[in-house]
Amino acid sequence: MLGSLKASIYENWMKLQGMKKEKSSNKALGFATRAIHAGQEPAGPVNSIMTPIYQTSTFVQPSPGEYHQGYDYARSANPTRTALEANLAALEGASRAFAFSSGCAAADAVMHILSSGDHVICGDDVYGGTFRLFDKVFKRLGITFSYINLENEENLRAAINPKTKMLWLESPTNPLLKVSDIEKLAAIAKEHDCITVVDNTFCSPFIQNPLSLGADIVVHSSTKYLGGHSDVIGGALMVSDTELAERIGFVQNAVGAVPAPMDCFLLLRSTKTLALRIERHSQNAQLIAEFLETSDEVESVTYPGLASHPQYELAQKQMKLAGGMVTVVLKGGLPRARRFLESVEIFSLAESLGGVESLIEHPAIMTHATIPVETRAALGISDGLVRLSVGVEAGADLLDDVKQALAASS
Ligand SMILES: *Cc1c(COP(=O)(O)O)cnc(C)c1O
Repeated sequence: MLGSLKASIYENWMKLQGMKKEKSSNKALGFATRAIHAGQEPAGPVNSIMTPIYQTSTFVQPSPGEYHQGYDYARSANPTRTALEANLAALEGASRAFAFSSGCAAADAVMHILSSGDHVICGDDVYGGTFRLFDKVFKRLGITFSYINLENEENLRAAINPKTKMLWLESPTNPLLKVSDIEKLAAIAKEHDCITVVDNTFCSPFIQNPLSLGADIVVHSSTKYLGGHSDVIGGALMVSDTELAERIGFVQNAVGAVPAPMDCFLLLRSTKTLALRIERHSQNAQLIAEFLETSDEVESVTYPGLASHPQYELAQKQMKLAGGMVTVVLKGGLPRARRFLESVEIFSLAESLGGVESLIEHPAIMTHATIPVETRAALGISDGLVRLSVGVEAGADLLDDVKQALAASS
């Protein structure tokens, strides 16, 4: 019921948006055009070009049970959020998108469509917060999990059993940047009536659209590239199947982990420059990865845009650009890595990624510290491994910073 109420609000909004111009929901338009216009038309009594921040908890009804444009209460729907959801749907080529208060809240909403006894297959180096949610919250509620390497599709076939309801994957993964064949994996899952969920945070919708490769649900931490300015925590889900949209819409309202109108506004502001930012992130990351590969101080560099990447061909086919994340293993282990992280001047030593400013971090000590040492070793997250989220500053300055920090730490 609630799902369909929200669906009608959404359709109504799309209709209102389409009244003046049809451009906003037209999938044939280029990504950058959709990013700037989808879901948004000059609005309100003064035709403001930016969608207003509807900082309100409720909406006045003309008569009991008669909802103005379908809006009754802001957990269920808020116009700033509706605009953001329409925008995000257009970016992933989805029919619906749902915004959440964090990426973890979005992942939680996906898990709520499962039931006790269901089995989930998940990539073995999934985002740490996702692993924690599965292992510490949903395992207790009777959902079972298998964590496998998804670089090889045969591993998936071997892990599927009659209770398997969901495949959850990231490509490229964090921090090892392993690339898996989304189209092949989703096809295998489909043969077994199992839905495929892709966490597309590392790519952003500009680089890859998993729904077009056969996935059923796309997850984003909009805290990262979608937000892009390190000032919002947010999450999103995108789907094209009507029944899945209905179920997720129900969970979004029933659980209520919705984003505030101000955060929706900030994200709408951010997606307008997503194409520009991702192009620059990728260009800068390529420059740094290519340099690191030639350095004697470096044991290995992993970047999907390097021909040396183990799945380079697949990355070229599946990803429009190689993205902003670079992983490097420095010679000299932990002491060297520590000195390197302390020596950078433009890169900031911080967790998170995807913002305009370049960040650097040490997964074994920081983002992946909760993963048991043996598991880290088995995955290849060594003590000399450093993860770079390459920002959109001048590429030459970032390169100089990496060079001086390598020299200072040797
Ligand atoms: C950050 C991140 C998340 C979690 O998102 P939050 O917004 O921090 O809750 C999920 N998946 C990936 C790949 C991430 O990088």
